[in-house]
Amino acid sequence: MAITLNPDQEVVKTVKEGLKQTGGYCPCVMERSPDTKCMCKEFREQIQDPAFEGYCHCMLYYKSKD
Ligand code: SF4
Repeated sequence: MAITLNPDQEVVKTVKEGLKQTGGYCPCVMERSPDTKCMCKEFREQIQDPAFEGYCHCMLYYKSKD
């Protein structure tokens, strides 16, 4: 299992700017809670899920199974 940044640097730049503006909360959702602090609960659960492979919701990170 590996977590990598999106190879598209424009996406990474945009999401990171969004994170800076929100103080680290997911820029893709309105809710501000510990669950939406990057890495958000949704992606943490996807990391734990052995069947999941793909991008987080904002497409900042990619999880590969191997
Ligand atoms: S892990 Fe991805 S979806 Fe979750 S808060 Fe961070 S950038 Fe957003």
